[in-house]
Formats: sequence, structure tokens, C-alpha cells
Amino acid sequence: MVATQIARRGIRDQRVLAAMRMVPRECFVDAAMAELAYDDAPLPIDAGQTVSQPYIVAAMIEAAELGPRDTVLEVGSGSGYAAAVLGRIAARVYGIERHRVLVDAAERRLASLGYRNIEWRVGDGSIGWPEAAPFDAILVAAGGPSVPSALKEQLALGGRLVMPVGGDSWQRLLKVTRASDAVYRQCDLGGVSFVPLVGAQGWPEPGR
Ligand code: SAM
Repeated sequence: MVATQIARRGIRDQRVLAAMRMVPRECFVDAAMAELAYDDAPLPIDAGQTVSQPYIVAAMIEAAELGPRDTVLEVGSGSGYAAAVLGRIAARVYGIERHRVLVDAAERRLASLGYRNIEWRVGDGSIGWPEAAPFDAILVAAGGPSVPSALKEQLALGGRLVMPVGGDSWQRLLKVTRASDAVYRQCDLGGVSFVPLVGAQGWPEPGR
């Protein structure tokens, strides 16, 4: 998968490619789906959510320019797959997810795989994790109407935030770099499709 679907499509960061090789994606999906685990496609998980497509996980992590001393926040940690890849590169990972059933499963899964550098929280990641800030990188695995100001404020100077922004099914993947206290640089990495970021600085809860 890494050679044919990720490196061939342009991911060059050797840390990202090595980390993707180390994480067994079949452990993050239902046993009935295990044989599809290395297809480059999103797959269903509990709570009506998905584990992201491996190429997109790799592209977002590469864009975040992660290093071994970095502290990272992942908003929308779902199955824990992307957090597991992040945890192979960065020093510390904070994963926040709004569905308790997903956090409980991710925490168990990552503990059984031997991870000791990931902390989990059930909650609204659109307002970040203020007590653990500042973050060298923030990855948001769900699409919002705009970049939450709370997340921008929780970036370290020089920190990078990668997140889909746009409508509730199609978005642009944006990279925001904090250049100084009040100056943020933004670039557009292309079109993507993510589930909605539901929260105080995202979309309203469906049906509200
Ligand atoms: N990165 C995940 C993985 O590797 O399995 C995939 C995540 S899935 C594409 C997006 C996740 O964002 C869903 O699990 C959804 O519940 C979560 N989500 C949406 N809005 C959220 C919010 N405000 N705070 C935390 N999680 C949120």
C-alpha cells in the first residue's frame, strides 16, 4: 500500500512513509473489513464514522512537517489510525473525538499495540485542548465552515494546522502556519471530502 498508493502518488517524507509501514491498518477496522484494510479508501467504523483514506492521512501528516520532538493535536481521532501514524513520528499526540465509543476503542487498541505517547479525550475538538497547548501541529480530520479561532490560538509560533474547510461534504484542504502572535499564513492543498466537524466552532449538531 505504501509503495503503490502513497509513495507513487507523491508523498516523499521518509518519516511519514516509515510510520505508515509500521501501523497495521487492519487492527483499526472491523474483522469483516480486514481484507480491505490496505485499499486506498475510507472504511466504516462505529458511530457512523470512517477511518480516513491512507493517502489523505499521509498527505496531511506530510503537510504538517512533523518532527520527532513535536507535540500534535488530532481533532476527530475516530479509530485512532491517524493518531497511531502520528505517534510513530512525534513525541506526544493528543487525540480528541466527540464519540465516546470511538475513543474507548482507540485507547484500548493503541495500548495493545504498545503506544505510550498518546492521550485521549472525549469532547468537542473544534475548541481544541487548551490545557495541552501550544501544539507544533494540529490535524483536523473533519471539515468545518472555517478554521476555528481556538485552534489557531493553540498553535505554537511556527506551528502548522492542516484542516478541510468548506461545505459539509466537499472542502479545500488548508494549511495554516502561525508566523507570529497575530500573523497566520494560509495555503490551499486541494479538494477533499471529509465528514463534518460538529461543534461550537464547527457545524451545528445534525437536527438542531
Ligand atoms: N482520523 C480518524 C481515523 O484515523 O480513524 C478518522 C476520523 S473521521 C474521518 C472524522 C472524525 O471526526 C469522526 O470520528 C467524527 O466523530 C469526528 N468529529 C467530528 N466533529 C468533531 C469534533 N468537533 N470534535 C471531535 N471529533 C469530531
